[in-house]
Amino acid sequence: MRITIWNENIHEVENEKVRAIYPSGIHSVIANFVREGVAGAEVRTATLDQPENGLTDAVLENTDVMTWWGHVGHHLVDEDVVEKVEQRVLAGMGLIVLHSAHLSRIFQRLMGTSCNLRWREGEDRETVWTVNPTHPITQGVPHPIVIPNQEMYGEFFDIPTPDELVFISSYTGGEAFRSGCCFSRGKGRIFYFSPGHESYPVYYQPEIQRVLLNAIEWAYQPQISAIDTSASFESKPGWFQSSD
Ligand code: ZN
Repeated sequence: MRITIWNENIHEVENEKVRAIYPSGIHSVIANFVREGVAGAEVRTATLDQPENGLTDAVLENTDVMTWWGHVGHHLVDEDVVEKVEQRVLAGMGLIVLHSAHLSRIFQRLMGTSCNLRWREGEDRETVWTVNPTHPITQGVPHPIVIPNQEMYGEFFDIPTPDELVFISSYTGGEAFRSGCCFSRGKGRIFYFSPGHESYPVYYQPEIQRVLLNAIEWAYQPQISAIDTSASFESKPGWFQSSD
């Protein structure tokens, strides 16, 4: 499985506190546990500052599943790159959208809504509850996952009704949030997972890593590329055609 870990990598460069938690960037931490946790994984990282935001045609054509972390740099992502990532998702690439990437152009475009939510940067404890224990993304995940410190994300979260709701989070302040949501667009699978504020070491938690590893496996669809939808129905000889 070919996995690309994308990150804007701005907070880690500009903010000392974030750099102390993620000295080589959030993408490096995610890439490390994905390399160890996904059998046969070919993992690469890509960041905003690279040519074509690190997502050249060659990279996209060789990516089965992509993870996306962004926050303050959403508007800096090249519009052509967003378009190409969308086409790749529609063709069957899996996309794991992390935390503040709810406002990324790619997620907004795939959802067709604002993807706005309520938030509070404080010292909340987040509790992540499994609401679909038969779903592959929840396997081996404790119920609940407790994250000692997290930014609060709350409803209303302006997304289409998820195809499958996997996790709901509650917070010290009493809010609730749909924190793990599955969608399909075209032939691609998309999973949004909200834990992962840059000021806290969330991606070092083994339970969070388990969720992301499960999500990558779930979003991977090797059989999809074999299905050819490029030819139109009428052009195939032998198919029934109406007489008019
Ligand atoms: Zn955040």
